[in-house]
Amino acid sequence: MTKYIIVSGGVVSGIGKGVIASSTGLLLKTTGLKVTAIKIDPYMNIDAGTMRPQEHGEVYVLNDGGEVDLDLGNYERYLDVTLSRDNNITTGKIYREVIEKERRGDYLGKTVQIVPHVTNAIQDWIERVSKIPADNTGEEPDVCIVELGGTVGDIESAPFVEAMRQFQFRVGYENFALIHVSLVPDMHGEQKTKPTQTTVHALRGLGLLPDLIACRLIVQKPLEPATKEKISMFCHVSAEQVIGVHDVSSVYHVPLLLQSQGIVQYLHKRLNLGSIELTKEMKERGLDLEKRWRDLTGRQERLYDDVSIVLVGKYTDLQDSYMSVSKALEHSAFRCQRKLTLKWVNSSDLEPETQATNPAKYHDAWRAVVSAGGILVPGGFGTRGTEGMILAIKWAREQKIPFLGICLGFQLAVIEWARHVCGFTEATSTEFDGDTKQPLIIFMPEISKTHMGGTMRLGLRPTVFEAGSEKWSKVRQLYGGAEKIWERHRHRYEVNPEYLEKLSESGLSFVGKDERGERMQVLELPDHPYFVGLQAHPEFCTRPLNPSPPFLGFVAAASSHTVLRDQMNLQLKSFRPPHPVHAMVSEAELRHAEPTVPGEEAAIAAGEQQS
Ligand code: GLN
Repeated sequence: MTKYIIVSGGVVSGIGKGVIASSTGLLLKTTGLKVTAIKIDPYMNIDAGTMRPQEHGEVYVLNDGGEVDLDLGNYERYLDVTLSRDNNITTGKIYREVIEKERRGDYLGKTVQIVPHVTNAIQDWIERVSKIPADNTGEEPDVCIVELGGTVGDIESAPFVEAMRQFQFRVGYENFALIHVSLVPDMHGEQKTKPTQTTVHALRGLGLLPDLIACRLIVQKPLEPATKEKISMFCHVSAEQVIGVHDVSSVYHVPLLLQSQGIVQYLHKRLNLGSIELTKEMKERGLDLEKRWRDLTGRQERLYDDVSIVLVGKYTDLQDSYMSVSKALEHSAFRCQRKLTLKWVNSSDLEPETQATNPAKYHDAWRAVVSAGGILVPGGFGTRGTEGMILAIKWAREQKIPFLGICLGFQLAVIEWARHVCGFTEATSTEFDGDTKQPLIIFMPEISKTHMGGTMRLGLRPTVFEAGSEKWSKVRQLYGGAEKIWERHRHRYEVNPEYLEKLSESGLSFVGKDERGERMQVLELPDHPYFVGLQAHPEFCTRPLNPSPPFLGFVAAASSHTVLRDQMNLQLKSFRPPHPVHAMVSEAELRHAEPTVPGEEAAIAAGEQQS
């Protein structure tokens, strides 16, 4: 029987429920258990694919092409698992399922209602997905963490809360525990418990009892014993059930903070985890994970040198828009034993127009770019800011500053080269100018122009390296010299094959292509310290203890060239694919991820294209 740990939230959202949930999962993994996770987002969207990044942060992409909430990224990284699109439940998905069933006549003439039809659909979904193997053992998970987005008491989350109330009886007391994450405000040094009392009261009113109350303090001061006592008293739980989660030096310290307060022992007892049989190998794996995690956090305290990276993007006003990119940089910096200094530059600020309208802003933006050890241009959609990105890429190329271009950044590096090296002065993408005479980047033929939801080239795709490139290609060496690699994609445009000859003749190497050799996927300049672009998004497969190879090479190059050499040797020795690729994605699933045009007329407007 699977053990379920529900993580709900109270008072306000955005206080780190996802980190507490994934840290709990990680801790259980260190005991040798197999852990998976489900995120519930009580919004009407089917998935996060059509949302602007400024709305909810980055759209995270899974192996199967699912476009999901960024919290799924947290789970994949912390638990080192590979999740599917079904691990992200939204109101939209549940209602669609129930309505489709109703139209098919599956309810046999009954009145279809929130209770029991919607609540049953939620419970069935959770039970089904919790059994899907998520790690490289290929076995059913022992524990499933279910994070309920939003806060208890919202209209949106009500059907999910009710479903959880029923679920505790469906799976039984010993298989269901609830962690309620609440806020304890610190007012002039005084820790206030009233908001927590109120939210726990609301939770009980809805029929759910907290087994653990995780009290978030948005200050560096730990939860005081007297506050703990008070919460225990007024919320009808024992003191060991009250956990303090104050601000620590990094999110990687949260698991250890929870562990130090006995959360593992508590859950062990409460869920009778001792009844799950663990092989010696699983226990050893757990211990090894704990050791490596402790090393990582310990080393983090002793980083003296830093590495400065500038991220030149268009969604820089909400840094969550680049969550996985910043995680990949962070993981790589740990491996290079550097403290990461990440500067965010809005690419529009680098453009001549800003120089005219706001010279101070222009000056600051360029100062950040020219003083950085490495320049990164991430993915993005639409025209705004792309000229600024091209200028930053030109600087990186000419000044031999390490550069990494991801997806849009890769496409813009091709445009920059075409304009300034090949003399195609008007080179651009048809995404920015549909009538251009020099379309270096073009719309992929199989993609729908009228529909946005789930119609890109999405999910895990192979890249094949050019024969002989293992001798010179840094990026290939970073992947352990592999002939073929797998990374996740999310795009609608690609390099125009008509320009390939001109681009290659002038020295731009497309070192990695798709399996048919038609689609350009990795570019690299051989006579540059590190100039790499990928059509894929390797940041979606990074792990704290196993950084994404192209990011590692980039950060190492930005740290210094000698470090690059050492790091590459290290990577060659320790490289393993960051996700159990073949076990997790079947050909059928990949086909499922191929873009399709939904039959219905209603095109989903909004989306990133308009931003
Ligand atoms: N807008 C570009 C495309 O659709 C790049 C996408 C991205 O960066 N994710 O191809």
